[in-house]
Amino acid sequence: MLLKFKFVIELKQRKNTDIISIRGARQHNLKNIDVEIPRYKFVVITGTSGSGKSSLAFNTIYAEGQRKYVESLSSYARQFLDQLEKPDVDSIDGLSPALAIEQRSSSLNPRSTVATSTEIYDYLRVLYSAIGVPHDPDTGEVIKKMSTGEIVDKLLLLQDKTKLIILSPYQTHNDASTRTTIERLRRNGFIRARINKKIIQIDEEFLNFPKTKKPNIQAVVDRIIVKDGIRSRLYSSIETALKWGNQRVDVLIQKNEGDWVEETFTTTYSNPKTGFSLPELTPRHFSFNSHLGACKKCHGVGSVLQAEKSLFISDETLSLADGAVKSWWNRNKKLKAIHDKQINALAKVFEISVQTKYSELSNDFIDCLFYGTSKNDELKKVFDYEGLCIQAERLYSTSKSESTKRNVRRFMLPKDCPVCNGNRLQKKISSITINHKEFGDLSIDQFTSLNIKDALEFIEGINTNEPNLEIIRDVVNELSKRLKFLSNVGLSYLSLDRESSTLSGGEAQRIRLATQIGSGLSGVLYVLDEPS
Ligand SMILES: [Zn+2]
Repeated sequence: MLLKFKFVIELKQRKNTDIISIRGARQHNLKNIDVEIPRYKFVVITGTSGSGKSSLAFNTIYAEGQRKYVESLSSYARQFLDQLEKPDVDSIDGLSPALAIEQRSSSLNPRSTVATSTEIYDYLRVLYSAIGVPHDPDTGEVIKKMSTGEIVDKLLLLQDKTKLIILSPYQTHNDASTRTTIERLRRNGFIRARINKKIIQIDEEFLNFPKTKKPNIQAVVDRIIVKDGIRSRLYSSIETALKWGNQRVDVLIQKNEGDWVEETFTTTYSNPKTGFSLPELTPRHFSFNSHLGACKKCHGVGSVLQAEKSLFISDETLSLADGAVKSWWNRNKKLKAIHDKQINALAKVFEISVQTKYSELSNDFIDCLFYGTSKNDELKKVFDYEGLCIQAERLYSTSKSESTKRNVRRFMLPKDCPVCNGNRLQKKISSITINHKEFGDLSIDQFTSLNIKDALEFIEGINTNEPNLEIIRDVVNELSKRLKFLSNVGLSYLSLDRESSTLSGGEAQRIRLATQIGSGLSGVLYVLDEPS
């Protein structure tokens, strides 16, 4: 009873505290000072350097706030956190959980950018997986998918009495013979098949079907005439065709009593013309930290080590014979002899003397010296030379010897990945776009190359009142909230793909502040060091 009473009193006292009251602070060079700091206010501590600003803000107020917070956690959670020493102070009352936002660079992760460190990228991934429009990465065509019902509805819009033949592009193992495939069709209850555009009765003619290389086989699922009351039959035929055709159905449509036209529909993202297809998109497909989205060449880093020509050239005023070009094998007599012989042979093909100064060599010769003769068929026939850069890259990726790798590494530099051009994502993912009436179609990596001001304009251009866009309303709100915060702290000029490691201390600090405030915690004490 007594205990309960005491608890109520304490709560009451706390509620009335609108100040942080510090008594007897002696941390570092603080001279046993008493300070009262109003809460819910923006408070600045100023003074000459060495006067104890940081000792008060960080080493006393923040340290105690943090320590109290950590102590409130379970012992299980505490073991993962650093033990903080109690600051040298008599008492501090009215503290809230404290967050320190220092100027130091926020992240050592080389992949961290403004977009990823503010969680903006996470929301973008959700947005793009929900409403992004896929394109064939090679042809640029928009890739559509339809539901079974949508396919049926589209066919029912055809003129009355139009004849339809529903075909399933029957999928078999690549090595299955035509005969095996047709036998399987028959076992599955199909009576007719269309082979290389000719419809045959399965049980009569198939044994005589001429052997051709990989014939185009479609199972005939149904023949049907468009009229009232066929919807449910058409629906189940389309469904059957999709099932056997790996989510694809071909429909022969007779136009005007004459020609038959073939149309293809799919319920997955795919382009029947090129065979390109996409799985059901999830936010993970847009992550360069996931194998689903990351560029296969650079694994989502955006750069790969590539041999750098200039690192091989030791002195342009020397000739090849005098050592103008050095490579990793230079110190190995045996290897050097082999390579010198090859370079001499290459020079002979070009009718060049190895005594010529490097700076006077022809560009064609230099190109072959570093990148080989494989690009030029005629030349390759005369002399097949790998090229110093190409060889170095091959050895770096395939050699099993650590010392060879280490040696070759000295002639390489990280450069933009040649496959994704540094944008870290697979081409099929960076071909998925969202449209804005002024910015046009932007993929997720193009979006992150916008600055914060333009990104906000883009996001606010998405009208979530449209019926099919309701699902992303929350995502759009979160994005716009975060972009506004960044804009409000004066960072609207920063591009979202700016690497965190290249930000100035003040920029990094303001981003962390915006992120913290964006996280919606309330009653938090923020301690900032030398904010800009
Ligand atoms: Zn790449």
